[in-house]
Amino acid sequence: MLRLVFLGPPGVGKGTQAVRLAVAESVAHVSTGDMLREAIAEHAALGLAAKEFMDRGELVPDEVMIGLVSDRVAKPDCSRGFILDGFPRTLPQAEALDAMLAETRQDLTGVIAFEATEVELIRRLGGRRTCSGCGATFHIESKPPKLANVCDNCGSALMTRDDDQPDAIRRRLQVYHEKTEPLETYYRGRALLRCVDATLGPDDVFQSTLASVRASQGEQPIA
Ligand code: AMP
Repeated sequence: MLRLVFLGPPGVGKGTQAVRLAVAESVAHVSTGDMLREAIAEHAALGLAAKEFMDRGELVPDEVMIGLVSDRVAKPDCSRGFILDGFPRTLPQAEALDAMLAETRQDLTGVIAFEATEVELIRRLGGRRTCSGCGATFHIESKPPKLANVCDNCGSALMTRDDDQPDAIRRRLQVYHEKTEPLETYYRGRALLRCVDATLGPDDVFQSTLASVRASQGEQPIA
């Protein structure tokens, strides 16, 4: 049973790794960024409220995020295990997650912290292009679409996410250092944390991720 948190700055590639690991291990992939973007696409009240924070590179308030994740982890697919991708991002969120899991006498089995240099993160985020139709992501240098600005999968136009604009990128990185990085100390204190060098290619990072997950399973009681 895996109950993992993926930590890391924006642009580090944790979403890509979370999708792959969730498929490989048959656990639920819970991406709070994706959930908010879906709410925006559906014009749901949550999306309207969240969008102004997201576009500025700010965090959506804790109480909103905690409510969202608490409902999500209670869904049946999460009973087989889950990867939280983008949550928690603040200390109150981390404490709320512990409380949520404690209610069902569960605990996290590991926390993987993905690491890359600031220069690399800015390069990745600034060059990222997202499909307006299916949400697939490309990069103008490292993963260009076959036709400029057109999605290889569905043919829709590619766009730069509002929060991948330069000012928002700077703010997201600043917020990460201020609010999310301290969680490494929080989890290290409980011997849950493992670090993965995310500057390599996605396949190498996946192998390191798998090795870290296996190592943390070896040290945690299997639920
Ligand atoms: P992501 O796709 O994970 O980079 O998330 C995109 C944006 O959604 C973030 O920049 C935040 O504005 C918001 N967001 C996602 N997850 C959280 C969270 N756990 N707490 C607060 N805001 C979040």
